[in-house]
Amino acid sequence: MKILKVGDKSQAICNSCKAVVPTTYTLRDVPFDDGDGEVKNVLVSVCDTCDSICSLPHQSTPAVRKALETKRKPIECRVPAHMIDILNLACTQIGCETDFRTQMFKYYIHKIAYDDAALAELSSFKDNELIEGKPEKRISLKGRHVKADLDRILYRTSLTKTTDIIKLITIKIKTEILDMKKPEPIKELRTIAVATL
Ligand SMILES: [Zn+2]
Repeated sequence: MKILKVGDKSQAICNSCKAVVPTTYTLRDVPFDDGDGEVKNVLVSVCDTCDSICSLPHQSTPAVRKALETKRKPIECRVPAHMIDILNLACTQIGCETDFRTQMFKYYIHKIAYDDAALAELSSFKDNELIEGKPEKRISLKGRHVKADLDRILYRTSLTKTTDIIKLITIKIKTEILDMKKPEPIKELRTIAVATL
């Protein structure tokens, strides 16, 4: 794989000059196509004649994707306060700080979305008395896969609201991590925590 450096020379079509021009790879802030925001300091090829951006090399695409991710609006829902307590306690049980909550949640959402047995089981938590309560706290989830995973769960169960899924998953987390202390998810979550925090 060829990796480009700042200052490397190349050639590209310049839209302003309407010609093939000599270019130089430079770090620039690149605005998004929709005009809402920009990617800071990303390697692009710049026209040597008119100084406009000609192209984005392959190695810059992960940085652009990351910036788009940050721009994406989070999925938010309100839950009873004790649900946050459950998630905090589960984090403690796993052996990490409470800021691991979001990642733990994403782990469960993704796992359930692709597991027929887990999907079937999810609705069975509906009768748990911990589902009830005034929605006083906020859960916010962000990420490229969360929306797709939640849609998949909605599509494959009789559940119709994201908030319900979040609540049911919280009950599942309580059952597996706090009550049963299941070794498999705890071990996997510990690995994710060590690798990402
Ligand atoms: Zn030009």
